[in-house]
Amino acid sequence: MEKARNPFLFMGGNMRTAVVHVGKYLDGLDRICNHNCLFCMERMEPDGSNQILPSVDRIKASLERYRRERGSLNRLYIAGGEPTMRDDLGAIFHAAKRICNSVILSTNCDFESSQWLTQLLKASEVDEVTTSVHGSHSAIHDKITGTPDSFSRTMNSIVELCEAGIKVNVNCVICKENIDDMPRILATIQALPGIRRLVFTHFCFRGFAFYHRDLLFSALDCKEVISKTLDMANEAGFPVLFRDFPFCVDERLTDRQERVEDVDIIFLGEQSMEISRSEGAPKLEREECRKCKHGSLCPKFLLSNYGEGFQ
Ligand code: SF4
Repeated sequence: MEKARNPFLFMGGNMRTAVVHVGKYLDGLDRICNHNCLFCMERMEPDGSNQILPSVDRIKASLERYRRERGSLNRLYIAGGEPTMRDDLGAIFHAAKRICNSVILSTNCDFESSQWLTQLLKASEVDEVTTSVHGSHSAIHDKITGTPDSFSRTMNSIVELCEAGIKVNVNCVICKENIDDMPRILATIQALPGIRRLVFTHFCFRGFAFYHRDLLFSALDCKEVISKTLDMANEAGFPVLFRDFPFCVDERLTDRQERVEDVDIIFLGEQSMEISRSEGAPKLEREECRKCKHGSLCPKFLLSNYGEGFQ
């Protein structure tokens, strides 16, 4: 069966980075998660899979094989679905730390309290978390995550993690539902103690987003709110970055691009392991882009969002 492919592009310079999806079923089609995000790229099908989750032994063997075949690894993301839904997360951290010092947990932070996670992270010497906040208040965030009250739980957990000394990065996927909320989202995240960085990621019309066409928006129609957010970003006391926003929306985006690199995706099969270099979503090469001074440095327009006929 053909494996699902997901572009996982993360900041990392020239370093080798990999992601392992410990919360995905073995056929790679669906995932365990307590959220139902409208744009989820992990959720390729609306119904669950009957396949089993990869065991810790399977994960361990795959990571060991990765190290044998690829040598060094600088950063490893533990991703899902939602990895914290597994009660063997500590053993997964342990296996991850054996091959890579810099291990980052990707989680939605939707817990009543994160104390148990803080203890687990500290005991495993994993000190970095990447999480998501998609609105400045519950009405927007909860609608996008498809999960009532998720905003307050996530925000409380972020504060707890920051206060415990865990490095927390926040990602916010921008779609039609929350584009006007961007400045308030920035203000909300900025008010939290000790956030390491905030990344605004342009919505990508893939995966579960296929069922939510109404989330599409045009960045060119939203220049005003994006420029206002950039004004605020210049005042913020921590990095505010943007991913997949075309530079012609606002020239200042050139200084605030998330530096991305290709990431190895470690696919976990029942008997086999497959490593795939991720590929970004295809970009739209408009006439303007071909003449533009930004050329290949600009993320341009995602073909999946804007379509072939977009001018
Ligand atoms: S390359 Fe294309 S999308 Fe990027 S700034 Fe130039 S015209 Fe805009």
